[in-house]
Amino acid sequence: NYGYTSNNSLDSKVNKLRENVISKNVNEPEFLQAFEEVVECLKPVFKKDNIYLGVLENIAEPERVIQFRVPWINDNGEHKINRGFRVQYSSVLGPYKGGLRFHPSVNLSVIKFLGFEQIFKNSLTGLPMGGGKGGSDFDPKGKSENEIIKFCQSFMTNLCRHIGHNTDVPAGDIGVGGREIGYLFGQYKKLKNTFEGVLTGKNVKWGGSNIRSEATGYGVVYFAENVLKDMNETLKNKRCVVSGSGNVAQYLVEKLIEKGAIVLTMSDSNGYIYEPNGFTKEQLAHIMDIKNIRRERIKEYLKYSKTATYFEKKRPWDVSCDLAFPCATQNEINDKDADLLIKNNCKMVVEGANMPTHIDAIHKLKKNKIIICPSKAANAGGVAVSGLEMSQNSMRLQWTAEETDQRLQQIMKNIYEQCHNASKEYLNELDLVYGANIAGFLKVANSFIEQGG
Ligand code: GLU
Repeated sequence: NYGYTSNNSLDSKVNKLRENVISKNVNEPEFLQAFEEVVECLKPVFKKDNIYLGVLENIAEPERVIQFRVPWINDNGEHKINRGFRVQYSSVLGPYKGGLRFHPSVNLSVIKFLGFEQIFKNSLTGLPMGGGKGGSDFDPKGKSENEIIKFCQSFMTNLCRHIGHNTDVPAGDIGVGGREIGYLFGQYKKLKNTFEGVLTGKNVKWGGSNIRSEATGYGVVYFAENVLKDMNETLKNKRCVVSGSGNVAQYLVEKLIEKGAIVLTMSDSNGYIYEPNGFTKEQLAHIMDIKNIRRERIKEYLKYSKTATYFEKKRPWDVSCDLAFPCATQNEINDKDADLLIKNNCKMVVEGANMPTHIDAIHKLKKNKIIICPSKAANAGGVAVSGLEMSQNSMRLQWTAEETDQRLQQIMKNIYEQCHNASKEYLNELDLVYGANIAGFLKVANSFIEQGG
């Protein structure tokens, strides 16, 4: 029972747990933010059985943290250095699984928050995957193709000894797409002389899964559809604001358009585009071309539309909407943004990015009866299809796009039901943030106990 069975009140035991974890991770604000959300949501679980306090304290500590130097030489022949990370957080449910993020903001706190969330997200998918995350503070922006190759090869030269198809299976995240997965996979193969499913998000020609690129965005839409269905509503004609224009946002917008929703905005870190009548499929194709092929800023889109407006250095939350889909990065909706969403009559925030809503904003939105679909449930479609890619690799076969999409839809429905049921059982009301954390945690926690800790 890990020392949490004294006669003290539940609140003081929870505070003790908080103190223990905070004191070990003082300089990690993102990680502590993710941890706080989980602790808050698990109070009803601790109330039923305080064994779970000690279990959470264990799960909050990564099984293994790997940090390494990534040396590379740029096109001018200069020696460059970046920091690489892989946090192997939890192997309770399966091999460590989670993406790699290449972005200048990456540090241990960011990787730990992502890895910690990944444990519960992967648990919700119902597939046999543990949780992990990795990445580097390398900034792919403005780098040549040659520099990207050199960096990926050096990164994998260090990482390869720690991963494997039964040990730890990385994938993409911000800054790591199909192109980078290709270079990383090629290097792994050279070093290990083995062709195995050590990474997911691979090209469909060489071991990738159909629908993997689309999966996160599509999955977010399927999740939202399930929530709306319980309210006897659909996505048709819903006014949607979307942030981001990367992999998640692109396929999310594609699916929203297909469902008859009106997508008013897309953004990048410099500003957002407002399309007053909603993006069409053809307009979305321009965005994809600008982002994926030409690798330019979203502002370029103005050349292709007479109706669009560009708002420099702004986020899209001041646009009136029914649904908001933050799909850019963590903490992109703060307290003030929450006020804007409330003022603009937003009914639901569906998180495509990981932890995009700050904890203060979550409280404010909930107080104003705005439904929040938390990322660890709503964006689990990406890692779910990664799990399906692992299965296909093990069986040495490939399912069709239709078949994979069917499975994805079923998984998202199942995730929604788990969140719904856990919330009803423990709170007697519908709160998907509580539901996701409780359902995701219980499976990991009970398995941890069954494996002897
Ligand atoms: N990076 C994605 C996530 O945040 C996907 C991870 C994966 O496919 O392993 O869930």
